[in-house]
Amino acid sequence: MTWEHYIREAQHFTGPDIKFVPIVEITLRDPNPVPGTCWDTDGKTARIRGGTDITLHTMAHEVFHSVFHNSPLHRYAEHWGEGFCEMFATLMVGHEATGSIPIDYALKYRLPERVISRVCNGDYDEFVSRWFRWNQIALECRKEGFLDRLLGFVPGRGYLHALS
Ligand SMILES: [Zn+2]
Repeated sequence: MTWEHYIREAQHFTGPDIKFVPIVEITLRDPNPVPGTCWDTDGKTARIRGGTDITLHTMAHEVFHSVFHNSPLHRYAEHWGEGFCEMFATLMVGHEATGSIPIDYALKYRLPERVISRVCNGDYDEFVSRWFRWNQIALECRKEGFLDRLLGFVPGRGYLHALS
């Protein structure tokens, strides 16, 4: 089953400052499925509940929340979380079917992923190395907004040059 595969891959993004939140329960095919697949944590462990939108892409996305949650980037660039999860999912599974998507969704998920992907040239190894580098910078500067300035984008809002 692919969950194990994504969970194993996600370990490449952990380290002394980034601890994977163990996923102790995965509910698929819920008799009363929620619309959106979601990841939830009590602080120590995590649960994933498959929704009506479950795909390989959303599965990989939710697994990466277990990496992001305990990272310095979560502390200082929390609004980038969905973009990092999308980036991981896209590297694992490929791009989601494109089509018309709501602007709020694009600003929170799709565009941050595109910004990260452009910096990494869509390359897995480059993404791993940037992930650790940006986490290191987060630990050093401890300033919210540092990644926005570095990448020229504010998730949920848009490109910095367009906002000023
Ligand atoms: Zn998410």
